[in-house]
Amino acid sequence: MAYMESHGLKRARPAELVPGTVSVITARMDYLPRSTPEGWQALESDRLSRPQEGIVSVYARGRDYHKVLRARLQKLSDRIATELGPLGYRVFTDSAPVLEAELAARSGQGWRGKHTLVLNREAGSMFFLGEIYVDRALPPTAPTSGHCGSCSACIDVCPTQAIIAPQRLDARRCISYLTIEHAGPIPLEFRPLIANRIYGCDDCQLACPWNKFAQRSALPDFDERRGLSGQQLGTLFSWTEDEFLRYTEGGPIRRIGHERWLRNVAVAMGNALRAGEDADIRLALQQRAEDPSALVREHVAWALGI
Ligand code: SF4
Ligand code: SF4
Repeated sequence: MAYMESHGLKRARPAELVPGTVSVITARMDYLPRSTPEGWQALESDRLSRPQEGIVSVYARGRDYHKVLRARLQKLSDRIATELGPLGYRVFTDSAPVLEAELAARSGQGWRGKHTLVLNREAGSMFFLGEIYVDRALPPTAPTSGHCGSCSACIDVCPTQAIIAPQRLDARRCISYLTIEHAGPIPLEFRPLIANRIYGCDDCQLACPWNKFAQRSALPDFDERRGLSGQQLGTLFSWTEDEFLRYTEGGPIRRIGHERWLRNVAVAMGNALRAGEDADIRLALQQRAEDPSALVREHVAWALGI
């Protein structure tokens, strides 16, 4: 997580990042797919009881939110400029040098839950955040109060104990970080705990009582793409690089690349085999035992228990 250090003060002081910034407009956008059924939290949690199925985090099953949010923030900025006259601005979403959750909390989008994500009373935590840095002084909105109370469901449910204290996350232990941001081998101690999660992890959000208020997106962009939920690990592992690029085109998963994808799926397949012998999974793993990537070979060997 070297980017945390490398951006230094730019993270804490918006004007260091974009000179001339006087105010930051924060925004949030709900992302539950439009067809999300009632009781979705329990349905999502049930996926863990089917070890041969790969679990992709809910937010990652549709279009890449970076593109959607950026385009919308850009449009909003243009409209503001039309109203106010010339405006210096820059839009961000999920950008390393921006302390996004903190800006959102300070501007009243919600409070930081014990899992560190921003929680809103009317929307839970299933939303993306974005910011517009502007060179105009705007009246600040007030922060909201916290409403976690004595709940600790997210801390208790976290499979890797990544939430080391309320509002303190050890990203190196977090399955979201390990399966998405982390580039090298997945540390051995975490592999069994990852179970069948192959891209991200929603468990702390699924456990959170506030997510009964999570909202469906108004846009089709975050609807689930075919093949990214309820899919068998063997199928996901059989994708060639071309197929991986095709099936993930325009989506956030594409960013991790085929090699990291295979690494993640291999870990899940190893966990499926440990849960019960499965000839198809074993065969699929054996077929990649000589994969050109050393990273993939090592995870396949681990999965096969070699
Ligand atoms: S995303 Fe998963 S691993 Fe990370 S803190 Fe939440 S429950 Fe733990
Ligand atoms: S699960 Fe409980 S403690 Fe964790 S963020 Fe939600 S309300 Fe707060």
